[in-house]
Amino acid sequence: MHEMSLAMGVLQIVEEAAFEQHFQRVKTVFLEIGELAAVEPEAMRFCFEAVIRGTLAEGAVLKVVEVAGEGLCFNCHQTVPLAARYDPCPACGGYPVQATGGTEMRVKELEVE
Ligand SMILES: [Zn+2]
Repeated sequence: MHEMSLAMGVLQIVEEAAFEQHFQRVKTVFLEIGELAAVEPEAMRFCFEAVIRGTLAEGAVLKVVEVAGEGLCFNCHQTVPLAARYDPCPACGGYPVQATGGTEMRVKELEVE
C-alpha cells in the first residue's frame, strides 16, 4: 500500500510547516487528490491516522478534496474529462489522451491553532 509512504510525506510537510510557521497543533489538513493520481482517499485517511499518532498532527482531521481528471486528446485536440489514465477520448473515442489535470496529490491548506 503506497498510501503509507504518501501519508508519511504529508506528515513531513505538516511538520516542516509547523517549524517554519511556529504552530503547535494542526486541526485539519486539506489534501487535494487528483482522480488520476492513483491514490485511494479511504486508504489515505487510514494511513494518515496511523502515522500522526504521537506527532503534533495527532488528532488532526484529513479532509480530502477530490480533483477531477482532465486530459488533452491527440486525436481531436480537445481538453476532455478523463476518469482513468489510458482511457479513450470521451468525445471522439480516439487515442491517446494525455493526462493534464487531476494527476497530483498535494497539501492544499492547513488549519492550525
Ligand atoms: Zn478526442
